[in-house]
Amino acid sequence: MQSISPEIIFRGNDAWERALPQITNLTKSPLILGRSTYTYDLRNKIFRDLKDQDLNANITNLHFDCCYEDISRVKNIIKSNNHDSVIAAGGGKVLDSGKYIAESLNIPCVTVPLSASTCAGWTALSNIYTKNGQFIKDVALRSCPKILVYDHKFIRTAPSRTLASGIADALAKWYESSITSSSIDDGLVQQAIQISRVLRDQLLIDGGKAFNNDSANNSSWRNIIEACGLTAGLVGGIGGERCRTAAAHAIHNAITQIITPNKFLHGEIVGVGLLLQLRLEEMKNKNKLADQSIKQLLILMKELNLPTTIAQLGINVFENQNIDKIADFTFRDNSEIHFLPFEVCKQDIIKVIANFEQQKIKL
Ligand SMILES: [Zn+2]
Repeated sequence: MQSISPEIIFRGNDAWERALPQITNLTKSPLILGRSTYTYDLRNKIFRDLKDQDLNANITNLHFDCCYEDISRVKNIIKSNNHDSVIAAGGGKVLDSGKYIAESLNIPCVTVPLSASTCAGWTALSNIYTKNGQFIKDVALRSCPKILVYDHKFIRTAPSRTLASGIADALAKWYESSITSSSIDDGLVQQAIQISRVLRDQLLIDGGKAFNNDSANNSSWRNIIEACGLTAGLVGGIGGERCRTAAAHAIHNAITQIITPNKFLHGEIVGVGLLLQLRLEEMKNKNKLADQSIKQLLILMKELNLPTTIAQLGINVFENQNIDKIADFTFRDNSEIHFLPFEVCKQDIIKVIANFEQQKIKL
């Protein structure tokens, strides 16, 4: 079974207003789920608009992350108030929690992304973390959300850092799926990989303009937020489980195991993982194009103010055996690193990270 996309998608400047009648048809007692204080006003607007439709709406926030503690607390709220849907309004962690909770209670989920940081508003997937933000696992869901509301006016209010993070995460689609899945003899998987290549090209061409967001280039901004929030999700939907992530996400998952005072966004960490994946390809797979890709990516990542080393994520890999901790988690059983089509061992990743971090001045 494969769920390719949300059942209904509203996109554009007044997507939320246009979605309201459909939402009113779907649910009489929705629970709005959010998290960040940045998005408090938007969630309040959503709440008031639903109340104006005579819906018995309620609102609650995640305390931590997309973690089992929050999931079971929110599930109890839904059960005790007889809510009949979840409206997840926020970034990836909120969207993933909303989808997971709705599915486990067998009620529909409406996703309302409030930034372009992720394609979680689209996908049938939830990433589960500890309450401190350490990655635990991916959970494949039975279906994509019932309704996705991609309201450009809402997304325009998000900090530009979220867009940069979304661009890095969407870029990873091509570099990861093309290396893990290009030998799979399945038309849909091949077409998903081709879409991710076009997606990468668009991000490389227009990502900087969208991030700098001058009004003359409004169409760049529009195309890029939709690339990050919609097209990246479509690639996952068409490619399915076999259009896989690889080292960039495996390294992301490992880096989140080290708790730092400042939290970084998913795509910010994936971007660093992507550079390390390419170095690994260069070293172990003799991929001569990898070095060019790194140079090309670094130009964009600097323009987007994205971190390009683990040190810039607030972690000194040469302290507290951090490099071993990252390598151990990257190489655990079930890690995406094992999808790479060439031999690679723990010592290789230690070498790549050590070289990379020592060269950080030159990068
Ligand atoms: Zn990702």
